[in-house]
Amino acid sequence: MDNCIFCKIIKGEIPCKKVYEDELILAFEDINPEAPVHVLIIPKKHIDSLDSLEEEDKDILSHIFIKAKDLARELGIAEDGYRVVNNCGINGGQTVLHMHFHILGGRNLQWPPG
Ligand code: AMP
Ligand code: ZN
Repeated sequence: MDNCIFCKIIKGEIPCKKVYEDELILAFEDINPEAPVHVLIIPKKHIDSLDSLEEEDKDILSHIFIKAKDLARELGIAEDGYRVVNNCGINGGQTVLHMHFHILGGRNLQWPPG
């Protein structure tokens, strides 16, 4: 996807503060953190949103969640708890059209969201 900011981060055309990378996913610090720990996990495959997921993507999705749990522990937020968020579509508040999951922690997060 030529105009996708997250694809450009994956290709190294835009810098990021990398937290983790493997053949399927990349994790990096959110540029505008909403919590003391705010990391994004994205698939290297361009997928517009959760709503665009296909059956063939199930391995990527399960890998993202296993790594989210591992990263939460490495980032020191697992014990106190954390939140994994996906914003999907306009009403979901999605601003970058490359599916991503936010890992948020390090403070007491409120519920419900606004
Ligand atoms: P969402 O609103 O769920 O689509 O989340 C998009 C997130 O991407 C926001 O939290 C932004 O702060 C973050 N973001 C946008 N551009 C960058 C970037 N270049 N590096 C890191 N995070 C970014
Ligand atoms: Zn993309």
